[in-house]
Amino acid sequence: MQESEFSLINRLFTRTDSSRNPFTRLGIGDDASIHHLEPGMELVVSTDSSLQGVHWPDDFPLDRAADRAVCSALSDMAAMGAETLCIWLNVMAEHSRAVERMAQGAMAALKRYDVELAGGDTCRSAINALSVSVAGQLPEGTAMRRDSAVSSDNIWLAGRVGWHALGLQQWLNGRQDGAFVPCFEVITPLLQTGIKLRQAGVGCCIDISDGLLQDVGHIAFASGVGMDIEITSVPGWELLCQAVGEDSASALVAHGGEDYALLFTAPDDVSLPDKLAVCIGHCRSGKGVSLLLDGEKTDIEKAGFDHFR
Ligand code: ADP
Ligand code: MG
Repeated sequence: MQESEFSLINRLFTRTDSSRNPFTRLGIGDDASIHHLEPGMELVVSTDSSLQGVHWPDDFPLDRAADRAVCSALSDMAAMGAETLCIWLNVMAEHSRAVERMAQGAMAALKRYDVELAGGDTCRSAINALSVSVAGQLPEGTAMRRDSAVSSDNIWLAGRVGWHALGLQQWLNGRQDGAFVPCFEVITPLLQTGIKLRQAGVGCCIDISDGLLQDVGHIAFASGVGMDIEITSVPGWELLCQAVGEDSASALVAHGGEDYALLFTAPDDVSLPDKLAVCIGHCRSGKGVSLLLDGEKTDIEKAGFDHFR
């Protein structure tokens, strides 16, 4: 006999092994959840969709797809410097087995990062998809925003770029045991790094989801600055060059998405925790982003991921 929607929800989405976040006054089970913020704190909210055939290949396991969907949503909290409080999870599934697989993956990710599930929705759909909303908090006025770079700032990168795209290439080429495949299968949101950066006084940050050049362009545009980035300074550059050669490595670094590294800007005198990030460039007056290779301007053009192009 087919299991009912409500039995599925009770069985799959109710966790008994997590301490409830004091932020949540009422969680799963009612028409809505209820939350409380301490005075002086701001609420930070983001929502993201992931669809089979768009965000993951048709033959990619659904539990891993759901794990990735949750982690990519959490990365938005890292980029803002927020402490993650909870998520809401909408599961759209072709059948109840697909609900089960996606629930397993989503719950595994939440357990890894000790994040509470405060509610969601479960329904049948023509294609498998997830929508994840996430809430976090931070002290008022301290969020790391895309519009607060200044022309005298340095540009820093915490994490890798290009590795996910290479892992995806290997996976699509049938090389499931490729060295970079794990970078595609598992997303690591840099939650603690984001909080440390905000605490160090960093004011401007973005997570690299759609490609370095495109995402950095968002900072340049929102802040009204120009930005120069030295591609060979990116962590792991030599390894990428060894794997695919310099031209392909440049393209992977410039356009490869979904690594969820944190790119931020900060003035000369910022004091960053040791080894958290490497300096990869400088802001300047003017506009636009230039990628440099050993100091020489390249002609690599903006071509990050765009759903409608
Ligand atoms: P409603 O009819 O008010 O939309 P539902 O019957 O859809 O409520 O859901 C019942 C409860 O189960 C709600 O509290 C909802 O937040 C929770 N819920 C449903 N699906 C999920 C899910 N995928 N993840 C977490 N909670 C869920
Ligand atoms: Mg509902």
